[in-house]
Amino acid sequence: MKRNPPRIGIPTNLTLVEQGKFIGMERLSVPRDYIHGIVRAGGVPILLPIIDSLEILKEQVNSVDGILLAGGQDVHPHFYEEEPSHFLEDVCLDRDHFEMEIVKEAYAQKKPILGICRGLQLINIAFGGTLYQDISTEYPDNHYQHSQNARRDAASHHVEILSGTKLHEVMGSEKIVTNSFHHQSIKKLAPGFKATAFAKDRMIEGIERLDPSLVLGVQWHPEMMLNSAPEMQRIFNLLVEEALAFQRK
Ligand code: MN
Repeated sequence: MKRNPPRIGIPTNLTLVEQGKFIGMERLSVPRDYIHGIVRAGGVPILLPIIDSLEILKEQVNSVDGILLAGGQDVHPHFYEEEPSHFLEDVCLDRDHFEMEIVKEAYAQKKPILGICRGLQLINIAFGGTLYQDISTEYPDNHYQHSQNARRDAASHHVEILSGTKLHEVMGSEKIVTNSFHHQSIKKLAPGFKATAFAKDRMIEGIERLDPSLVLGVQWHPEMMLNSAPEMQRIFNLLVEEALAFQRK
């Protein structure tokens, strides 16, 4: 029997038009790099606009086979019971609430979830972990550029991947070089998760849930490296393969 290609839901970001005739207009969008990653993996990207109805959100999750959480703003620290530090950057509460509920619903439906950068951080918080609100002021051994000055597709710092993890299986390597565009990182890892990858300063660069469902996050941006480091495509292939496996259940 021929299956339809898996549909991957990508929650959108919410931004405001800042000047011109449409000043104040809200826009829902995702960076196109993510779309390329899903399409090249044989998946069908479906944008999931931010809404505030839980009933409709459930239908949004029903209509896809997997979820990709994109990068973006800082998650509001109230979600891990902290007050905003001086160094917290932009937040978007509408997006935070929406994506938290998307993760809960998708996990309840046992659909695979891949989180990239903010996506990894949001997964960690959704399952009970915390963040350093700003690594330049809070992380104990802050030696390297995790907000790289080099352009988005340039490999910047090393990441060591633990063997015996899904991430290691997918990347087929214990040491890779990634780009890095984060000023926050995981402080307390959520229960039920394993840290799968580390920078040389021991910052957590990858996580995955310790159960058969795929809930996996990476702190770097593989979607920006698809041309400069084609092996990064494998991370999107994994999500699409798991979504296909979900369809077959
Ligand atoms: Mn990094």
